[in-house]
Amino acid sequence: MAAYPSEFELDVVLRDGEVVHVRPITPDDGDRLVRFFERLGPESRYYRFFRVKKNLDPEEVEYFTHVDYDRRMALIVLDGGEMVGVARFDRMDDDPRVAEVAFAVADDYQGRGIGTELLQLLTAYARLHGVDKFRAFVLPENVQMMRLFRNSGYELTRTLDDGIFEVDFPVAYTDDARAAAEEREKRAVAASILPLFFPRSIAVIGASNRPDSLGGRLFVNLLREGFTGPLYPVNPNSQVVNSVRAYPSVLDIPDPVDLAFVVVPAPAVLDVVTECADKGVRGVVVITAGFSETGPDGVEMERKLLDLVRSSGMRMVGPNCMGLVNTSPAVRMNGTFAPYYPPAGNVAMSSQSGALGVAILEYACNTGLGISQFISVGNKADVSGNDLLLAWEDDPQTDVILLYLESFGNPRKFARIARRIARKKPIAAVKAGRTGAGRRAASSHTGALASMDVAVDALFHQSGVIRTDTLEELFAVATLLANQPIPKGRRVGIITNSGGPGILAADALESRGLELPEPSPALQARLKERLAEEASVRNPVDMIASGGPEHYRHVLAEMIASDEFDAVMVIYVPVSPGGGRQVAEAICDVCADDGHDVTVMAVFMESETGRDLLRTEHGAIPSFTFPERAAEALARVVRYGEWLRRDPGRVPAFDDIDPDRARTVVESALARMGDDGGWLEPDEVAAVLEAFGLRLPASEVARDPDEAAEIARRIGGPVVVKVVSASAVHKSDVGGVVLGVEGDEAVRRAFATVTAAVPDADGTLIQEMVPGGQEVIVGMTEDPNFGPLVGFGLGGVFVEVLEDIAFRLTPLTDVDAAEMVRSIKGYRLLEGYRTTPPCDVDAAEEVLLRISAMAEELVEIEEMDLNPVKLLAPGEGARVVDARIKVRPVEPAWVPEIRDLPGVTNPRK
Ligand code: ADP
Ligand code: MG
Repeated sequence: MAAYPSEFELDVVLRDGEVVHVRPITPDDGDRLVRFFERLGPESRYYRFFRVKKNLDPEEVEYFTHVDYDRRMALIVLDGGEMVGVARFDRMDDDPRVAEVAFAVADDYQGRGIGTELLQLLTAYARLHGVDKFRAFVLPENVQMMRLFRNSGYELTRTLDDGIFEVDFPVAYTDDARAAAEEREKRAVAASILPLFFPRSIAVIGASNRPDSLGGRLFVNLLREGFTGPLYPVNPNSQVVNSVRAYPSVLDIPDPVDLAFVVVPAPAVLDVVTECADKGVRGVVVITAGFSETGPDGVEMERKLLDLVRSSGMRMVGPNCMGLVNTSPAVRMNGTFAPYYPPAGNVAMSSQSGALGVAILEYACNTGLGISQFISVGNKADVSGNDLLLAWEDDPQTDVILLYLESFGNPRKFARIARRIARKKPIAAVKAGRTGAGRRAASSHTGALASMDVAVDALFHQSGVIRTDTLEELFAVATLLANQPIPKGRRVGIITNSGGPGILAADALESRGLELPEPSPALQARLKERLAEEASVRNPVDMIASGGPEHYRHVLAEMIASDEFDAVMVIYVPVSPGGGRQVAEAICDVCADDGHDVTVMAVFMESETGRDLLRTEHGAIPSFTFPERAAEALARVVRYGEWLRRDPGRVPAFDDIDPDRARTVVESALARMGDDGGWLEPDEVAAVLEAFGLRLPASEVARDPDEAAEIARRIGGPVVVKVVSASAVHKSDVGGVVLGVEGDEAVRRAFATVTAAVPDADGTLIQEMVPGGQEVIVGMTEDPNFGPLVGFGLGGVFVEVLEDIAFRLTPLTDVDAAEMVRSIKGYRLLEGYRTTPPCDVDAAEEVLLRISAMAEELVEIEEMDLNPVKLLAPGEGARVVDARIKVRPVEPAWVPEIRDLPGVTNPRK
């Protein structure tokens, strides 16, 4: 009997956006099971049992509710505490890697995707427990069940025998099954978020006549912007709030309520939200603070609140948030207590900080950045940043997604989702907490734990998220993305009426890796036609101070039409009163012609005048006051464009690896260690690495000088003698390594030397000497939030002093690995430089990919250093000459597959 697998207690979002609870069956579920069976219609019973079945007898109830979670397993679905579905498997007696599966869903719950979700979870369970194949018996008339299997993405074989279909399929995740699960997840989550952003009616619980209270401000905001549905203030102490009839409780409202804002004191929140559940409200926004951000009592109260929300199938924003906004004319919901309502537009934004949220709305109002939806997520107890990404993925009003983040709930899921969405619409983010001090501030502020910055950089880089350092940069990038095409390349043209700013712009662009090609002779000739003699038609094109609106019009049009530039920066320095206005009009005229895809941006070096003028019917031309800011934003967007065009690569599958063997080694090591785990022994390290196809020089542990000599003879040639010691992290630093030892006597002497170097010598490692090659470091460390991070750098000072090291999160694609190796400054040495011969760079990439595979398979590995790996001459591969691996026991819920099950909203932390 295996332990009850609590990691499979999960909340799942269904097709229609409702949330249900799934968990393994327990012996206490007998009554529930009987009630469930009694609810099943005759047809459902027949499909399940292949015969007319009137009732479950006590032995059957006992049998179905008592499973051992290994040979027999069952997951049940609960809604409001009642059982509404079940899926089970029983392994075959003659072949335990094959299991027979069966499903049943309450009649009134059919058609909502419950069976499909159960199949997904049961296959995940099976995969993790050594079941390879599922078998189901289905009556031909049970078309629903056949469809469920067919749409699952698994590769089915179907045979008809005696009037019953036998359906067989391997449970290994296929790309199709993943894609199907992700598609379902997207739809389900978007449907669950819909009542939050597109409510048909709103209650404000805690609405008040006091204009200074949050409830008063929020209600007035909703009223003033003209929310398109009915608004219901709820306040037990007043009959009327702002001329609108008020109700003592949400339960007294005569009509249905989609969305409720909760602005009551913290101790009253649970009662109020319970009433919302009873009323059938679909979404709640809890503005009230005083939850997990305040300490243990608050954490407990937030947990209760979440349980309540989940068990009633609602979704919740907050608590401790500022609210949400939808500018769509069909909704017009100004659901925050801030005094700003942004202009409508195509940028969706989520903020983890309420106070910054206010600043963001103010900024959007002032700069005219158009917002589609805005949300302040607060403590993110239920609705997370990942949910919002899924909701915005297919939102037709949203073209650009902005995130202000302080922490990640589920980074692995973020990576998976962001990577897909960023291919359709850009995501830009500021992640607070870049420095140590900022990090402490973030965690005391929202009660959320911030994480290592390299992990965040890797996460954003790998998933195509544009990272900015400040909110100001975020808005600059957003303005560019919201209004202009993404540049097709790095070629930038500059137009200016003054030399100095042109040079500043050129420097700013070039230092960020952008290119300023000289116009072709033909283009130069065309530009010259209408410019003054002294004008320069190289790049920057300097029209000098006499350059007027007509010159701007001519040059810009020619540069756009030339196909020689991917972006054009138009700089104007005021020379005559009102000149800026005319130049702005000229730029707009040229850009109003929709037939081009060149990115155009303006720098008007006079405060604020350019901005409002630079609007065309095809969107605005982003306008900046200084060229550096413009260059910065452009560079970030160009890099995003390059990410878009780059092949994402694939995570290679190695067919020569033996994860089971490595797992056995790790498990037996863990059995010897305590709860904190520890470092593997040298022979265990070698076994694990070899199981993943990594090559080590021949090596063996010797306990005494004679044994050392014997091993050295067997290995042949010069050897390396290293002390085996738990205390010495850098053996050579203390004289614990002797290289190039040859001959019995020398080996014995080396044995004595190295074992004398440390107090806790436990024999020596006699290793084949690997001559030549270049030394690199490959490391892996498990970030508590982000999962395994793989690092790559050159050995010694390069990593330690120059910090020249690249990190990526697993799983690595082949493209990630290639990019990692090339991204360090020391790469030029690996290619061969002066007296340093080139080495096997392909082998370095392969080592990284194999280590990534190992980290994904063996979650027990907490840390690993391969230092050094010797890269031999091209074609000769790599040898791991020194390695340390630290392992520790891992909770089942920490397994990546469970942490990121599509559609599941609460994998346990
Ligand atoms: P530590 O890192 O604990 O000091 P290593 O096993 O990494 O000990 O050995 C130190 C250095 O000795 C390595 O960085 C490498 O330069 C060299 N070395 C170690 N083992 C070998 C080997 N088998 N062949 C060639 N050189 C080696
Ligand atoms: Mg070493």
